[in-house]
Amino acid sequence: MLRFHNYDIVFQEVPGEVTLAINISNCPNACKGCHSPYLMKDTGEILDKNVLIELLEKYGNAITCICFMGGDSDPQEVQHLSVFLRNLTGNRIKIAWYSGRQHLPEGCALRCFDFIKLGPYVEYFGGLDSASTNQRFYRIENGSMIDLTSRFLKSPNNIDSTQMTQI
Ligand code: SF4
Repeated sequence: MLRFHNYDIVFQEVPGEVTLAINISNCPNACKGCHSPYLMKDTGEILDKNVLIELLEKYGNAITCICFMGGDSDPQEVQHLSVFLRNLTGNRIKIAWYSGRQHLPEGCALRCFDFIKLGPYVEYFGGLDSASTNQRFYRIENGSMIDLTSRFLKSPNNIDSTQMTQI
């Protein structure tokens, strides 16, 4: 079971997409320097299919992507909800997952997602907008992971990612 703290419409977490980002609680990763320690507590509203339907009814016409921000305490449920969204929306809404794990959890299939971010937050290396980051952001295409991490680098030619979430 997953719970979420809040959600927001964001423009920087998934390049080129207007994204409804759902901030999932009970994060098990305990990254030093975590931007949102409250997400480590198992609090908030249950995230289930009914909640996703309600969010789609409210924001479905305004967004192009839904992003699960976290969910590493129950990756199978993230995948379950992703498959549900895929069946419900077809390819109209893209599906992204920000995981703090180094690798895609066993049993999770790439085809369930359009974008995946992997890697814990490590203060020394910085987040996705740092040139030295250990984190990776991928677009999933035909079963391949295409590394788009460089799209997050702070530069005049890239997006302004100063407010990015560090899941
Ligand atoms: S994965 Fe994100 S939310 Fe979880 S501890 Fe690390 S920085 Fe905090």
